[in-house]
Amino acid sequence: MENTPDEVYCSTDIKTIKGLGGIYADAFYQKGINSLFDLMLYFPYRYLDKTKLTAIADLKTDGNFALIDGIIINRRFNQTSKVRILNITVEDSTGRVEAVFFNLYQNQIQQYQTGRRILAFGPVKASPYNMLPSMTQPVVTFLNEGEAVELSDRMTPVYHAAGKTPQKIIAKTCSAVLDRLKNTPLTEYLPNDLNPFGKTITEAILDIHTPLPPEKVEQKIIPEKTSSFKRVCFEELIAYQLTLLCLKKKNDRHLSFIVSPNAEVLGNFIKKLPFELTSAQKKAFDEISADLNQQKPMLRLLQGDVGSGKTMIAVLSCLQAALDGYQSVLLAPTELLSVQHFKKFEEFTADLKIKCVLLTSQIKGKKREDTLEKIASGEAQIIIGTHAVFQSEVNYHSLALAVIDEQHRFGIEQRQLLLAKAPEGMTLHQLAMTATPIPRTLQLALFSDLDVSILNELPKGRKPITTTVMSDSSAYKIVARLNEVCRNGIQAYWVCPSIDEGDGAQAAVTTRYKELKKALPDISIGLLHGQLKSDEKNQVMKKFLEGKYQILVATTIIEVGVDVPNASIMVIESADSFGLSQLHQLRGRVGRGQKDSYCVLLHQNTDDEDHKIAMQRLMILKSTNDGFKIATEDLKLRGPGEVLGEKQSGFDIFTVVDVNRDFELIEECRDVAQKLLSTDLQAVKALVKRWFPKFKI
Ligand code: ADP
Ligand code: MG
Repeated sequence: MENTPDEVYCSTDIKTIKGLGGIYADAFYQKGINSLFDLMLYFPYRYLDKTKLTAIADLKTDGNFALIDGIIINRRFNQTSKVRILNITVEDSTGRVEAVFFNLYQNQIQQYQTGRRILAFGPVKASPYNMLPSMTQPVVTFLNEGEAVELSDRMTPVYHAAGKTPQKIIAKTCSAVLDRLKNTPLTEYLPNDLNPFGKTITEAILDIHTPLPPEKVEQKIIPEKTSSFKRVCFEELIAYQLTLLCLKKKNDRHLSFIVSPNAEVLGNFIKKLPFELTSAQKKAFDEISADLNQQKPMLRLLQGDVGSGKTMIAVLSCLQAALDGYQSVLLAPTELLSVQHFKKFEEFTADLKIKCVLLTSQIKGKKREDTLEKIASGEAQIIIGTHAVFQSEVNYHSLALAVIDEQHRFGIEQRQLLLAKAPEGMTLHQLAMTATPIPRTLQLALFSDLDVSILNELPKGRKPITTTVMSDSSAYKIVARLNEVCRNGIQAYWVCPSIDEGDGAQAAVTTRYKELKKALPDISIGLLHGQLKSDEKNQVMKKFLEGKYQILVATTIIEVGVDVPNASIMVIESADSFGLSQLHQLRGRVGRGQKDSYCVLLHQNTDDEDHKIAMQRLMILKSTNDGFKIATEDLKLRGPGEVLGEKQSGFDIFTVVDVNRDFELIEECRDVAQKLLSTDLQAVKALVKRWFPKFKI
């Protein structure tokens, strides 16, 4: 059978290109470029315009490149121990220009004789020595008198370096592949009505490498901004959507345990809670409960702003499993959070005689053996812990459900290790929880394979947090205020950005702790940072939770999940050095009880541009408590990579797409992917194979 162009381009090694072997090919391999198709996507980052000649009199000394045609009328050569400098003067019928060359070889220098005609292409600047414009190190072609100049009609691409491969070789290599592409285009899979760019993938690729010159000379073509480039991103995004949709379909054919709800016990449990579930919580749990009760594996993301009560949903889900005789595991990103979750779970499930165990790297020796034993025998019904829960030494008995808290803190591999703990032939039900509200477009881009439940409502009685923004230099006012309110039983967090003195601008948590102790001798103050031993951390948290500390001075270690309802004041130092979403997370540690809550954002005083942007961010935070709004703003300011953290899956899997840059294309891609899926399975398979060959769909 004939191979399709895709098959040929995607499976042909770049070494087969004439003149590309050895270290040059290796340099491309290093960059992950193996096939001809990969090379087609090795786009230039800028262009040179060799499409027109400039009369010397029209040269602008703005550093831009120009192409001139003239006669050498003068040459001067200088040699020192370090450099060889050749200066020439070139003249055409309109004027004169200087050109300077450094360190040419003797035989090259010989060629530059007065009277010779040259075509020179180089950047033009004002000369520091005389009135003439000056070209630095131009690329030169020697011409005979009367010889016609052949100008190219396309821009000349400039590529990023690949190892030590000279630009000339890169350009030649790409040009060889593009020639092939011109003769044998890629198969076009987007029908016209689903292609808003009006050009095929082949046309787009060719156009990115060698576009036509801009209409106006001053215009610069920036590859990423062209519609051809967007066309390519568009297709890669569609292919990614298709991959997710296909994987989801495949997942739906896998089997999970049917975990049925014990309606009576669950109902009573919910009735006996010290609070009433919010309607968002009820709805989310109904969705999860129904998912669990099916053979098809659940794949669900629970999104809810900080403080919206996600932990309760985790408790209910694990409870449904335990009541039906299955194990469930709750994975949390930090030790601190695992311990807190474990305590909550124990407290809630005590009456039901359900056995919860905690497994972290801090649990050692006999206790660890004992825990592992209970997990293996099935005596432990709910297992809570950090990454320890998916290590190879842990054997589960009848694991049916995995709950992943703060899922954006985990990479794909870690999640897969956890999922591999399912009994032979079975797939786990998965519930991922995140407090980083992900705007819809992004969610579609990265997780369209997940069903989503949203907690869009905070528990009743919560009062909005009042946020103020003040300069670091007013910190003393806050200290005075704390002195008053902490005597009346109010608890506060004081957050500093780093734990050591290193960076002068950032407050050091230990120093601050000592200062505050001195300034507030009657107030009990605790210190919490990542370098404490885990026992110490837990002790400090326990004392703060029990109200034995009035103030907790801490690093951002308290950012995720920490829940002390009585704490109602949050002071954040150097808040301008944090991201918006992170500040929102931190602020979410207060406003969890019935008290009026306050957040004070202290900022540094500098007057550079960064500071202005930082201040804008703080103002957004002051103006709203809505995590979704904040995340959307943060996304605009910093891009999703920053907002969601680098561990977030789906960021490093694209070749051309940059989620930060291209997320506006996403919504439309999703529609197109859906349409393709329902109309042209052939195209779907081919597109996935072209862009994401690693995924077996
Ligand atoms: P998050 O969604 O940020 O993980 P948590 O699960 O930590 O939030 O819940 C925040 C606090 O709200 C906890 O103290 C929890 O016990 C409490 N809570 C949860 N659900 C409700 C509810 N329906 N009514 C009142 N308080 C609730
Ligand atoms: Mg939480």
